[in-house]
Amino acid sequence: MTAWPSNQPPERRVSAEQRQVWRERFGESDRAAGIEVTDDFERFNQIDDMFTRAFWDDSVRSKHTDGFFASYRMKAAPRRGEGFSLKDFALRNAAWAVSDMVSERAGAEGKREGFQSAIELTTQVADEQLDIEDPPAFSREIKEIAKMFGADLVGICEHDERWLYSARVDTRDFSEHENKLPDAITHVIVLGHSMDRELVDTYPSALAGVSTGLEYSHEAAIVIQLASYIRNLGYEAIPSMNDTGLVIPLAVKAGLGEYGRNQMVITPEYGPRLRFSKIFTSLPLIHDRPNDKGIKSYCNICTKCADQCPPKALPFGPPEDAPKNRSTIRGVKKWSADCEKCFSYWAKLKSDCAICMRVCPFNRDYVSWTDRLWRSLATSRFRKLALQWDRRFPNGKRQKPGDWWARLAGNFRSQ
Ligand code: SF4
Ligand code: SF4
Repeated sequence: MTAWPSNQPPERRVSAEQRQVWRERFGESDRAAGIEVTDDFERFNQIDDMFTRAFWDDSVRSKHTDGFFASYRMKAAPRRGEGFSLKDFALRNAAWAVSDMVSERAGAEGKREGFQSAIELTTQVADEQLDIEDPPAFSREIKEIAKMFGADLVGICEHDERWLYSARVDTRDFSEHENKLPDAITHVIVLGHSMDRELVDTYPSALAGVSTGLEYSHEAAIVIQLASYIRNLGYEAIPSMNDTGLVIPLAVKAGLGEYGRNQMVITPEYGPRLRFSKIFTSLPLIHDRPNDKGIKSYCNICTKCADQCPPKALPFGPPEDAPKNRSTIRGVKKWSADCEKCFSYWAKLKSDCAICMRVCPFNRDYVSWTDRLWRSLATSRFRKLALQWDRRFPNGKRQKPGDWWARLAGNFRSQ
């Protein structure tokens, strides 16, 4: 039984027939990806996203949430000492600058591109279409092109309309609008963008938020460039960041990682220290296959992220289909945070929090053999040994933001 009633209007509710079609089409790959969809499933409405609710929902909106968004402009950025100084906020806000340019350019039309609206390209789909004779080879090639543009991980999955938002919002008045992609879309290219580990180590701080802003700015440039390339080849491509649909199930379906207790996709290469973007395309590609990497099994015996979450927003028990409020998708059995508690902590901090990313034992670079040995143990039947290891020698200890600045100064003093 779900604890939150459906708030979808009847015309947007998913019918039993539609669920059956999806079960037949995606059941096998859902099982391989560890995704459990139940009979209560409904597509997520973007109006329910926490960041959107903070503008229209009086049960969420407060002086703290208004102050959170305002702090991304210097005149409203607070000064609270180490990690939250003028320089920390200045650097954080600068890191967002490219993403902001994209998201603000159509604000007058109610479109916050990359967040509440898909990014609109000036590049049109070319009339001449490349003949793709070898889709497997072309799929490998397009992944390399994505990496050339700057993506760290790339995977491909089938287009799966279950994860599209049931409606998108107009940011002028928060009215709901149709969220539809061109019929020709068949695949999604999912891109992973790794975050700077030394900055992540300083969470919670405004300085740490530089790692988030940097990757949104990188994402914006990379999806625009890759989608333009695909359109130049004569195929449809819609570049997308947080807009249009949920990226987490797509990243898992594309075989990039597994869903963790901290609500992040945990990858073998970077652990949870990534952001994801996507391109919806009509290219004839070969999709990747998710497999059991042993990560979720580790999360089953670990609660480090939940233990260290300041507002206790993360779950301690097994995955369940019991949304605590309207910001959780209905009908997916999974670990779900209480997003209201989480965002209210961000709002008081006046910056994003990712303590649950920093402390996760998978948050490593895997450059040293000890990190690789830990991962081998953690993803094997010896996972309890890895758990003991992390308890004895925990990774992800918070670094002081002042030390990050001192290291930066040391770099140029030693030159
Ligand atoms: S981001 Fe921070 S507040 Fe939110 S769940 Fe993670 S640790 Fe908790
Ligand atoms: S801290 Fe532990 S439980 Fe949380 S996501 Fe990481 S491995 Fe999973």
